[in-house]
Amino acid sequence: MRCLSVAVVLCCSLAVAADSDLWKLDDKLKIAKPEDTKDAETVKAPKDAIILFDGKDFSQWVKRNGKDEVKWSLKDGVMEGVKGHGDIMTKEKFGGSFKLHLEFRVPYEPGGKGQGRGNSGVYVQGRYEVQVLDSYGLVSGKNDCGAIYNVSAPKTNECKAPTIWQSYDIDFTAPKFVDGKKTEPAKITVHHNGVKIQDAVPIPVDNTTAGLGGDPSTPGPILLQDHGHPVQFRNVWILKQ
Ligand code: MG
Repeated sequence: MRCLSVAVVLCCSLAVAADSDLWKLDDKLKIAKPEDTKDAETVKAPKDAIILFDGKDFSQWVKRNGKDEVKWSLKDGVMEGVKGHGDIMTKEKFGGSFKLHLEFRVPYEPGGKGQGRGNSGVYVQGRYEVQVLDSYGLVSGKNDCGAIYNVSAPKTNECKAPTIWQSYDIDFTAPKFVDGKKTEPAKITVHHNGVKIQDAVPIPVDNTTAGLGGDPSTPGPILLQDHGHPVQFRNVWILKQ
């Protein structure tokens, strides 16, 4: 019996250690330059911005089904995706042109590969995914961090090392329609850690993989993906233009 309790305690402490290791780098990860391990600067919301997440609560958010309460974790001003809980999205829907700012960090999962490390995503209007992934040190393709998923690879790989805070500034212009016919596609510009990696890229599709879809002439929410990895977000705001 005593052995069993010791084993249980040991097992639990190992599980806790494994969890916290997700946020600690080790010397197996080759760091290309010192700034890769420095957090991106946090950017204060301008006074006219709508604050979507300031670390206090999920009052602006709802589950992907549009009705259930968000149960992602919330600790020290940071939200973290909870595996199996599902995607979350803003209650408010946005159309026209706007700028979205958010900060994120991906865990250190050296055992994972490709889409299996620090995967999440920011779906603009719930339709167009700007990929969040641990793509540190890779030659970025159309599915890597900073890509518009399956549409456009980032011009350069601006990823910081996993566990380090990064930023996206996404400028979006909704597609234009005349008499129900699309006359101009959606356009997305992305700055990753302050560097422009997508420059007014026209989006030829009305939805990217796993997006909400729906009528692309109507406003849509900002959606954050649960892809089974404990990706963290903070300081999310939007400025209509
Ligand atoms: Mg994703």
